[in-house]
Amino acid sequence: MGSVAQPFKKPIPYEFKDSSLIDTRSLIGGQWVGAASGKTFKLTDPEDDGEICDIADLDGEDTRRAIEAASQAFETYKLTPHRERRWLMRKWGDLIKANREDLAALNTLELGMPYTESLAKVQYAVDFVDWFEGAVERTFGETIPAFRGSNRILTIRQPQGVVACITPWNSPLAMVTRKVGAAIAAGNTVVCKPAPETPLCAIALAKLFERAGGPPGVFNIVTTSPANTPAVGHQLCSHNAIRHLSFTGSTAVGKMLNTECAKTIKKTSLELGGLAPFIAFEDADVDKAVAGLITSKFRSSGQTCVCANRIYVHSSILDKFADALSEGVKKTFTYGSVWDKKVNFGPLYAGKGIAKVAAHLDDSLKNGAKVHSGGRDDRAGPNFFPPTVLKGGRVGMKFMEEETFGPLAFLVPFDTEEEVIKMANTADVGLAAYFYTEDISRLWRVSEALKVGMVGVRVGLVSAAEAPFGGVLESGLGREGGIAALEEYLDIKSITIGL
Ligand code: NAD
Repeated sequence: MGSVAQPFKKPIPYEFKDSSLIDTRSLIGGQWVGAASGKTFKLTDPEDDGEICDIADLDGEDTRRAIEAASQAFETYKLTPHRERRWLMRKWGDLIKANREDLAALNTLELGMPYTESLAKVQYAVDFVDWFEGAVERTFGETIPAFRGSNRILTIRQPQGVVACITPWNSPLAMVTRKVGAAIAAGNTVVCKPAPETPLCAIALAKLFERAGGPPGVFNIVTTSPANTPAVGHQLCSHNAIRHLSFTGSTAVGKMLNTECAKTIKKTSLELGGLAPFIAFEDADVDKAVAGLITSKFRSSGQTCVCANRIYVHSSILDKFADALSEGVKKTFTYGSVWDKKVNFGPLYAGKGIAKVAAHLDDSLKNGAKVHSGGRDDRAGPNFFPPTVLKGGRVGMKFMEEETFGPLAFLVPFDTEEEVIKMANTADVGLAAYFYTEDISRLWRVSEALKVGMVGVRVGLVSAAEAPFGGVLESGLGREGGIAALEEYLDIKSITIGL
């Protein structure tokens, strides 16, 4: 990889093929603009806390302009034939693929994710665009047999208007494509507010959307600092032109925004926190279960909402499982600079991550857990925390009640199916769950009993563009991915015709 790329303040070991994808401004009604106030905020590199660049810091008033631009664009975009929207998705997807290396580099730069892992994230992001491209022409209506013979009833599906998309820092590419892609494919226009920690990926995706021929005002971006975020959020939740808020982030913020949106009866799609149980039953294939857990627990250094958090292992296989897991981790991961293509395990997102992981580790050790492998080690950088396996996890420890969002695998022993289902179902949230068994009736029984939106049986990964993604309980409302994602952004209208 080459050297310094502009306009960054720090040198990075990657040379962009197309540096025009890099911008520090927002996009409103087809114009790349700064904040009306002229204010900016600093974007820092989570690998070493170095300053990357200054990003436009928009406020509530700037956001109102973006909403109005989106609202105006909706009046014409909603009439675009499905086939045209399909070609737009196809061109956008093709451009994302053609620029995969630069997009991966931006993901690595702002998220601190190893470059090789970032390339896989670009593929995951474009999978959504590809899926919506295929589905956009299949948003069929229905005909309904009427009670009264003189009537004929049918339904059509129509776009809703302007959709606000608020995305988290931990997945800066796919969180944009799965919200914005679905909303725009369905005929809506969008105001997207990326996380202040990771705006560059969203900006680059919007540039590619423009190049694909996306009309001005259809995809707007509002970048904002943590300080201005509440004002921007308030505008997005209270403006009447916004008809749908699609939010991914913490349960606390999701609840607050949902309450605000209720005042103008907006539809909300909320993808919130998880506390995923992972269960290895006594009849599990231990090698397969360990491989699945490594994927589920340690990808993105443990920083995804569907990462296993409470790992229940049958007492009869606990020792064997812990040894195999520690061995598997040693063989799987290579550490070092996130720009090194051999490296596949990166740092945590700066202070945010380290503090919580350290708190969960200390709490468990104080209450009797023991490190089986790993433990604190910042040789690969100040924000680095290695994959760590602990035995002796139990109810009452912090990781049982809140997401660790980091690479700590707490193993909790159990003895019966009934006991483990009860423990798995105690959480207030219900996003993903995983289990390993070779027993076909247990496969059905446990899948049906778990209180979650997604179950992985003998797999450690449930996220896929073609499958409905989302949770139950306080993990949120609605689904992303699959046909359910498009339906989320369409209103059903029934038309009754008298003969
Ligand atoms: P967060 O809730 O702090 O922030 C998420 C987004 O909301 C960011 O863009 C942030 O700027 C914005 N935000 C914060 N306060 C706001 C306000 N008052 N008004 C408007 N916007 C506001 O969460 P985070 O720390 O960025 O992300 C991590 C969380 O996201 C974890 O809990 C994780 O489980 C969850 N997550 C869920 C999914 C899912 O699909 N269920 C996916 C990824 C992450």
